[in-house]
Amino acid sequence: MEFINSKKLLLDAKKNGYAIPAFNFYNMETLQSIIKGCEFLKSPVILAISPSTIEYCGKDYILGLANSAMKKSTIPMVFHLDHHEGIDDLKESIDLGFKSIMIDGSKLNLEKNIAVVKEITDYAHLKGVTVEAELGRVVMTNDLEKLEGEEFFTNVKESIKFVSETNIDSLAISIGTAHGLYIKEPKLNFQRLKEIKSNVDLPLVLHGASGINEKDIRKSISLGINKINIATELKVPFTNAIKNYLFKNPNCIDLRKYVPYGKEAICNVVKEKIILCNSYNRI
Ligand SMILES: [Zn+2]
Repeated sequence: MEFINSKKLLLDAKKNGYAIPAFNFYNMETLQSIIKGCEFLKSPVILAISPSTIEYCGKDYILGLANSAMKKSTIPMVFHLDHHEGIDDLKESIDLGFKSIMIDGSKLNLEKNIAVVKEITDYAHLKGVTVEAELGRVVMTNDLEKLEGEEFFTNVKESIKFVSETNIDSLAISIGTAHGLYIKEPKLNFQRLKEIKSNVDLPLVLHGASGINEKDIRKSISLGINKINIATELKVPFTNAIKNYLFKNPNCIDLRKYVPYGKEAICNVVKEKIILCNSYNRI
């Protein structure tokens, strides 16, 4: 079964003003729980795979899981390589069949970021693969505290140059969100989002959306965000549900008995996020 790229999904979301939820999965159980929630609400989904998850599972196992999921699935699902930095590694993954990637050159200066993104985008497009790239930098939540002003925010003028010179398919922007657990509620720069949106005609991506309040997520979508990335908000309830069960049942040693509580917790969050993204009943 062939993987699909994210073009059709993101363009439909852009045209109709909603967002595709992108959930990180980490193993078979988390993947199954995400898909269950998406199938229940008939939502397309992007299944994000970070480099650390590849390191944890192995690329071959991820491919096996993805293939099994696609054979049974009733919804469009895109397996997406999130936050990858190595060009050779990405080329290898593209050759293995992945159709949706993110090249993260956000730690580089503008010219270098453009150069690496352009190189992989040229390669990817020849093979029908869609590319997301990040301009500005979505930092870790710990670092958000240290930020002064808008040091890591996406610059509007640079975004115009970046998009036209790289030919990417979607743009991840930095407007005040961060990766991980927020220590205090972040303040998003909606004015910046509006300015980027009026200058860049691409689906825009919000990283670090776990922990952003519903009102701000809805506002971001109404202003042009078409992909919402959720990772931390799945990890936490999964772990807590299992912790709670084991606390009450300290003698349980069968993971097939306690892991389903984590799966159910993930599935519930997935449904909430689909409603928030307004991506339900799109199939
Ligand atoms: Zn991210």
